[in-house]
Amino acid sequence: MQQLIVPALLASLWTLCTGAGDWCYQSQFSCDHQCNAPEKWDHANSKCGGRNQSPINVVTRKTVKDERLKDFKFENYQESFRGTIKNNGHSVQVGVPHVSTVSGGGLPTTYKAVQFHLHWGKNGGPGSEHTIDGEQYPMELHIVHMKHQYTDLTTALLDSEGVAVLGFFYEASNSGNKKYDPIVNALKSIQDTNGNTSLLPISLAQIIPPEQNLTSFYRYKGSLTTPGCTESVIWTLFENPIPLSMDQLRAFSELKFKDGKSMVGTFRPVQPLNGRQVYRSGGAAILASSTLLMVAIASVLGLSEPN
Ligand SMILES: [Zn+2]
Repeated sequence: MQQLIVPALLASLWTLCTGAGDWCYQSQFSCDHQCNAPEKWDHANSKCGGRNQSPINVVTRKTVKDERLKDFKFENYQESFRGTIKNNGHSVQVGVPHVSTVSGGGLPTTYKAVQFHLHWGKNGGPGSEHTIDGEQYPMELHIVHMKHQYTDLTTALLDSEGVAVLGFFYEASNSGNKKYDPIVNALKSIQDTNGNTSLLPISLAQIIPPEQNLTSFYRYKGSLTTPGCTESVIWTLFENPIPLSMDQLRAFSELKFKDGKSMVGTFRPVQPLNGRQVYRSGGAAILASSTLLMVAIASVLGLSEPN
């Protein structure tokens, strides 16, 4: 009997000390709480150590313009629904009825929306997962979609192009964004992990920029940004950020992780590109573009170096 008890006791002690199997963000790691922080996610799931991981830093001057990245077609994005918002211990998530779809934008087929969730910093500080030329935005929205023929995400994740995530950045603005009132007001009811509440009716169109401002985006192939880190995601990152006031951004820091600590810094650090190419749509700006334009104008005017 003792032979059985000792290893079991050691195993449970090991779990207590290392938090094995329990992944966490860097902000949650402390000597008292030694959970699996992002560098150790591959211990929990080997896929997290893969070569096509997300998020990434987009270096705009290294992106390649792709004419196939035409405008998206959003269907039923205007449709209002009564969703449930939940603190799942890592983020806030809202399940979406599978009726809103996205196609075009260089996607191989139609994808239907499944859920959306957010990643943020501390009190409106840096908190996005993706960065653009090293800039980390205060928050990032992920609207998770799966190929239209699937009925659950687990199955979709078995397909290397089964999932399409639309990523949106936020920026601090001087005035509050009323379209976000249903979400921001619900946060106080779900401060504790596993807390959930019903939202006043919202639509997906309501929480993203107007369609005409969605023509500039980046595209690459990557993974889920939480364990299991499955590499089945076609990523789209829109250039135009969503404005929220500082108070609205700060409201997310009032949420709590399972241990009661503030839910802040809910982002995975950027991962190596490992030779992947990032594409940009026709409208997406690159930092060097104004310089190139000046050179072009100068050469037309005959102001370039004399021959
Ligand atoms: Zn996410």
